[in-house]
Amino acid sequence: MSEVIVGIDLGTTNSEIAVVRDGRVEVIPVSGGVPILPSVVGIADDGTLLVGDAAKNQYVLHPDRTVRSIKRRMGESVRVTMGTADYAPQEISAIILRQLKSLAETHLGHAVTRAVITVPAFFSDAQRQATREAGEIAGLEVVRIINEPTAAALAYESRHKGARKALVYDLGGGTFDVSVVNLESDVVEVLASHGNNHLGGDDFDRKLVDFALEHLKETNGVDASRSVTAMARLQRAAEAVKIALSDQPYATFAEEYLLERDGVPVHLSLEISRDDYEAMIKPYIDETLDAVHLALSGAGLTVSDIDEILLVGGATRTPLIVRRLEQDLGLPPRREVDPDLCVAMGAAIQAALIAGVQTHTVLIDVTPYTFGTSAIAELNGEPYPYCFVPLIRKNTPIPVTKSEVFYTLFDGQERVDVTVYQGEDPDALNNIEIGRFTVEGLLDNALAGNPIVLGLSLDLNGILQVTAREKQSGLERSITIANAIARFEQDKLDEARNRVHALFVEHEVARPERDSQSDSRRLGVEARALVEKAERLLEKAGAEDAEDLVDAIEAVRDALDGDDASLRAAMASLADLLYYLEA
Ligand code: AMP
Repeated sequence: MSEVIVGIDLGTTNSEIAVVRDGRVEVIPVSGGVPILPSVVGIADDGTLLVGDAAKNQYVLHPDRTVRSIKRRMGESVRVTMGTADYAPQEISAIILRQLKSLAETHLGHAVTRAVITVPAFFSDAQRQATREAGEIAGLEVVRIINEPTAAALAYESRHKGARKALVYDLGGGTFDVSVVNLESDVVEVLASHGNNHLGGDDFDRKLVDFALEHLKETNGVDASRSVTAMARLQRAAEAVKIALSDQPYATFAEEYLLERDGVPVHLSLEISRDDYEAMIKPYIDETLDAVHLALSGAGLTVSDIDEILLVGGATRTPLIVRRLEQDLGLPPRREVDPDLCVAMGAAIQAALIAGVQTHTVLIDVTPYTFGTSAIAELNGEPYPYCFVPLIRKNTPIPVTKSEVFYTLFDGQERVDVTVYQGEDPDALNNIEIGRFTVEGLLDNALAGNPIVLGLSLDLNGILQVTAREKQSGLERSITIANAIARFEQDKLDEARNRVHALFVEHEVARPERDSQSDSRRLGVEARALVEKAERLLEKAGAEDAEDLVDAIEAVRDALDGDDASLRAAMASLADLLYYLEA
């Protein structure tokens, strides 16, 4: 057997090591079962060498004994101080590489002496040489240095044949790079790249910390930035809040006994919405998109030349990034390979190619369908009550949990109906309905716009858990949909979609006219939706119920020309009837 060659992503914030074994790519656990090692090195008070989480933990209190982000200094003739001694950047990087090597040896049960290491596409010769030297100091023969976007493209390389062009968008903790690459057979060529060495997820954390500091100043009159420990706690909390906001519409900073003011403890409990957070980070995202266009023009290409967008780096899990890229480039980014591990996986694939070992494509469990619900929004420029709102998108790795916020339409609205669909069509009625339920007993004094948080959780067995929660009261209802994934094979799905589509064409759905008063317009839209729903139920209703239903429908239709109050009253009667019929 030829000797194994490992692939290493030596990152600014985190590093990973992977290997191909039995034809499969395996990212090796390096930190308490997790395959991610923080790229931080330090010396403890007793002189012990710390690498990874232990060093990261001591950074805030002992920055003099800790070194992080050494990748930014690679290739410079400088020395960095750690404790009582000075080190070259290569030496600090070598400590990280040595730790990875030794953890891999323990995991694999044999020596590891050869590696492929990745570097950013923009790295100069001096920076590449310094990386090679770091490997050698760590006792590794560096068989090849490859570009990070090349590695990412290799990890994503699937059954595609022929040439294609990809845009690799890589946003990590502290660096941003975008590269345009040409993929042909097994050769990946970087055509152009651009970026900012000081932009990343850490900047997003900083915005959230500032937000919390401001709040503490306003509510408690304290300046928490003066306390090192309070700042350390806020920084950790901010990252957790940021990560939570990638999957849910609200998150809370909750830090008890953060600090003291005149002997009185100060607690922090501050909720932030995803909308507010997105407004904070928008300027950063704008900057990355400017770089995307610069890289494209550097490669002499336009948006329409790009066949796919590949996401790399933990911060690309931010939904705003995915949305903005899709809007700007007109195609949905691929994100089925874990963005934190993608580069190390690609490095391992390159290593296996060099060693002449067969590899399979990276195998990941992803959902083959999109799941979501419907809401009133614009479709083809018109307000429409059944716009599909995807929550879990096709090709998302599973298990996955996502939630979104929706709002009630009327003052005093007591219930909401939730319908869950599977499909891709912007019109929910063209997708497959896979479940529905009602949440009743909402706060009776709530005004229109009462937030309802809808959560979808899909597990590896294809079981979909759907939960709707009234945010203010905590009132919650949920359903479980078994076999959400296995429910329809593709041909059955197409068949069902055609069937629903045919139905839809036959029974033309009422699409409301525009009205200058937006409230009245919303009411009109909702009224027509109610009528449409009632008409669909007419077929199922018995003779007596059908008569009542027809009367109630007529009453709503008549009221459509009258004032809002009578329309609401007519709608309430019809809704009651529907509720009774559906029960
Ligand atoms: P990397 O350097 O690629 O390991 O990326 C690390 C950055 O990704 C850090 O700023 C993390 O806080 C950030 N990150 C990790 N997971 C998420 C997430 N789910 N949503 C947003 N940012 C994340």
